[in-house]
Parts: sequence; C-alpha cells; structure tokens
Amino acid sequence: MTNHDRDPAGNASTPAGDTDIVLEARGVTKHFPVRRTVGDLVGRRRRTVHAVDDVSLRLRRGSVTALVGESGSGKSTVARLLSQLYPLTEGEIRLGGTPVKAGRGRSFRAYVKQVQLIFQDPFASLNPVHTVRYHLTRSLKIHGKQATEAEACELLERVQLLPPLQYLDKFPHELSGGQRQRVAIARALGADPKVLLADEPVSMLDVSIRLGVLNLLRDLKERLHLAILYITHDIASARYFADTTLVMYAGRIVEGGDSETVTQQPAHPYTQLLIASAPDPDRVADEEDQEETGSGEPPSLISPPGGCRFHPRCPKAMERCRTELPPRFELDGGQWAACWLYEDRPVSTVVPGAPAKGDGAADTTGDGPAPSTTEVAAK
Ligand code: SF4
Repeated sequence: MTNHDRDPAGNASTPAGDTDIVLEARGVTKHFPVRRTVGDLVGRRRRTVHAVDDVSLRLRRGSVTALVGESGSGKSTVARLLSQLYPLTEGEIRLGGTPVKAGRGRSFRAYVKQVQLIFQDPFASLNPVHTVRYHLTRSLKIHGKQATEAEACELLERVQLLPPLQYLDKFPHELSGGQRQRVAIARALGADPKVLLADEPVSMLDVSIRLGVLNLLRDLKERLHLAILYITHDIASARYFADTTLVMYAGRIVEGGDSETVTQQPAHPYTQLLIASAPDPDRVADEEDQEETGSGEPPSLISPPGGCRFHPRCPKAMERCRTELPPRFELDGGQWAACWLYEDRPVSTVVPGAPAKGDGAADTTGDGPAPSTTEVAAK
C-alpha cells in the first residue's frame, strides 16, 4: 500500500476499484467509561478504558487476516466493533465500500446477515436445551432462507459433520467441543455471510482437534470466498492459517504484513517478543534472547503509557518513545511497523528476536525479501 492510499488523517482509504475489500475499519476507537466510584463522585474526573485506539484494517474476499495479541490487547473488542455489537467511540466501518452504522432491528439483521461472529466458547454459544436442528433451522429462518431438513443437512455437510442426519437431533452436550464449534460455524453459514469474524475459535478446544477446525475455516474461505478475521493469541497458528497478520498491543495495531514475513521477520519489538514466547521446537531461546525481546506485563488501559505504549517493556526504547506516538513506517514487501526504529529506514534483514544494528534499527542493505503476493490488508 502506498501513501496515496491514506486519507489526510493517515488512515487507510479504499483504493479505487478494489472490489475485493469486503469489510473495512477506519480509525476505529472504543473507550469504555469506568463505573463511578466514591472517589469519582467527590470530583475526580471520570476514567475511561482505552480498549481500542485508531484501528484501521481491511478484510478481503477469499482471504484470512489474523489479529494477534496478548489477552487484554483489545482484539476481541475489535471483533465486537466490526460485528456492530458495540457502538464506536470514533471512526468508521465500511461494508462493501459503504459506511454502515447498523443500530438495532432490521438494519442490524441486514448487517449480521453479511457479517457473522463466531465466539470463542462453543459450550456457551449454543443453547443447551435446543438440538442442532433447532439452531440451524432458526438461523435459516431468521435470514430468510428455507428452513427445511435438507437445508440444515447441507449446512452440516459444509462443516464436515457427516453423515448430517446423525447430528441433526443431537443436543450440544452430546457433541465434542470440536463438533460444537462446527455447528456454531454451520449456524453462521446459515446467513450466507460474506465475512466471518472468528474470535479465538479454537482456543478452548483440545490441541488435537484445533487443526481440524482451522482447516475447515480455510476450506470455507477458499470454497465460499469468505473474508475471515481470525483473532488469536497464538502467532504460530497465524503463520499457518492466515494470509495477512496484524499484531495488536494495548489497543493499537503495531505491525502488519503478509503472515510469512511478519512471523519470520518480525520488525516490531513486541512482535519479536510474541515470536520468542511462542513454543517452537526448532528454537532454543537463551537468556540473552529474552533480554533482547523484553518481558513484563501489558499496561493498564485506563491510563496507558504515553508515546509508544510498549515502551515500558521494550528493550530498545529510546527517549522519544516515552513521549511521541510512532506512526506506521513502511518496510519491504508491504510490511509495516509502528516503531521509531524504522523512521526513514526500510528494513531488509530483520531476524526474529535478534538485536538490530547501531541504535537498534535493522540493516537496510540488500534486496530484502521478495514482495509478497498478499497485499497488506490493513494500513
Ligand atoms: Fe520500542 Fe520505541 Fe519501537 Fe516502541 S517505538 S517498540 S518503545 S523502540
């Protein structure tokens, strides 16, 4: 993406004629007021949680975008904002290039018909007193489809619960976690959506069945040309599953690019920390690596640190990092990072977790990685 793709505020703007962009967030911000306490009542200013600040991203047809970060980074809030479950504090959401504000009633139903959210917990997302048949036919009915047994069976076939008649009259407690999540996905497909927002869809499943559900989502992306947002704390799975990866820290997106580049050549010190923390049998991290990648806890979002929010944990922090918010700097192959290390210096040879040259900036020599075939979805 080039600079002319940005609006005057620096947010991503839709390139003319790019019809692959299905859902887009522009400068989306969400602040939650903190419940008043006695202290607030005697004159202290009302406090807010800065859950999401100035998030811009694009979801494209037939493509998976991973949004990766620790617990509390704001990634699930982004999913709820994109699904219009929460009103925005600032910013704009566009569906098919048109700004939308779903509200309630008919307009909300019209929106969720195209944008479906899959929750993390398949145990809680299905009503235990209803059968699979009820859940699927209800979804079909709500979205104006024929709610027949044949249609319900077709949904089960799409999520590879075969033979479908064997599952149709089961209650959620008679299914495994993986089967329940497949039913939740089938129910979402009942709307015939263009976008699936999958909020940690496999994190509550046994490790042995996670891959099957991710493979199912990938298959649906390819067969139905769905745009999928895959929210996860597991950056290793983003490399496997997503075309594009965005990394979120303390309410802001700090790095983006095609998944292979972001996971193999992370530029932002926080992404390097995530990679170093992810289990990898091929890598044995020593103490020096850990010092280079930083440690500590995410900050409070009630009073987030000034400047770069990662600076209290960043081993490469400079003086300006404490006061100046870094903008996004374009790197090679569509990768970008919001980090002062890359000011005016595109990188070509960033090694995961490795110390950079000089004051911490990566080497700018060489041709760098070949441009990705996957355009960065979020700028
Ligand atoms: Fe570290 Fe500064 Fe970059 Fe933030 S801007 S990640 S504190 S070097």
